[in-house]
Amino acid sequence: MFYQRTVSQRVWAEGVGIHSGRTCRLAVLPAAPDSGLVFVRTDLGRRVEIPADVHHVVDSRLATTLGHAGVTVGTVEHLLAALYGLGIDNARIEVDGPEVPILDGSAEPFVRMILSGGGTVAQRSRPKRFLVVKKTVRIVDGDRSVALRPHGCFTIDFSIDFPHPVVGKQHYEFVLSDKSFLHDISRARTFGFAREVEAMKAAGFARGGSLDNAVVVDDFCVQNPDGLRYPDEFVRHKVLDALGDLSLLGLPLIGRFQAVRAGHALTAALLHKLLAMPRAFEIREFRQRAELDVANIRLPELAALRVPARV
Ligand SMILES: [Zn+2]
Repeated sequence: MFYQRTVSQRVWAEGVGIHSGRTCRLAVLPAAPDSGLVFVRTDLGRRVEIPADVHHVVDSRLATTLGHAGVTVGTVEHLLAALYGLGIDNARIEVDGPEVPILDGSAEPFVRMILSGGGTVAQRSRPKRFLVVKKTVRIVDGDRSVALRPHGCFTIDFSIDFPHPVVGKQHYEFVLSDKSFLHDISRARTFGFAREVEAMKAAGFARGGSLDNAVVVDDFCVQNPDGLRYPDEFVRHKVLDALGDLSLLGLPLIGRFQAVRAGHALTAALLHKLLAMPRAFEIREFRQRAELDVANIRLPELAALRVPARV
């Protein structure tokens, strides 16, 4: 049987928020089965819980911001991608400021934080529940599109096309497993274009951004002294973002997510559309391997991860 999972103990990290520029402390704590992922702002003197689901998305410009009762927490997607990649269903996430720390701009520091803090633990009182896509749901917006299609495992198929000599057209197909997430996706950093940074700062974004937490490209090349972590780091980061945004369904997916030039807002709109169509999905648990075979579904093992020497 596939069980729900949580973190084995409290782990924490501290760092600047890429958009707010404010230093915040983040803590991830174990949570009860069926409680899901819930953010809690601890700096406001009142306890406001913000569930990590698509109904609580209040802003999708440049990053995903969740909010409830006038309280928000921003740039949640890289942490959520790490939790998804580690198979974590339930956790309480405390933040003492308006934004999750950006750390190095990827999901790797969150993965290390959790694995070096004891990793994850199966909650053997409750089976894991999955959202199985049964019918294709699609949104097209000019030359950008997103779709969720029925498929026998969880895949993300992402295409980007930036008219820039370093980025250009890139495509990546990701099939979720513990190794594929750690090795192929978790280290891909967020990126930005130097010529847009000043305008972003003037609009209140990217105030904590630097070469330490983002790949920055000028008109011709990558400005970071150490270059890229993967030749196609840009599209891999879009996969990472998509993984975090898709986790806002609240259950791990079985289906194929296809995105062309998409971002946070289009993905959130697709999730709303899917959830408004009850016949397009079903929620299932798989108690025995035979049930997977009957349904023609392959699920990754996300249980026994240890801290790798180098992710
Ligand atoms: Zn990102």
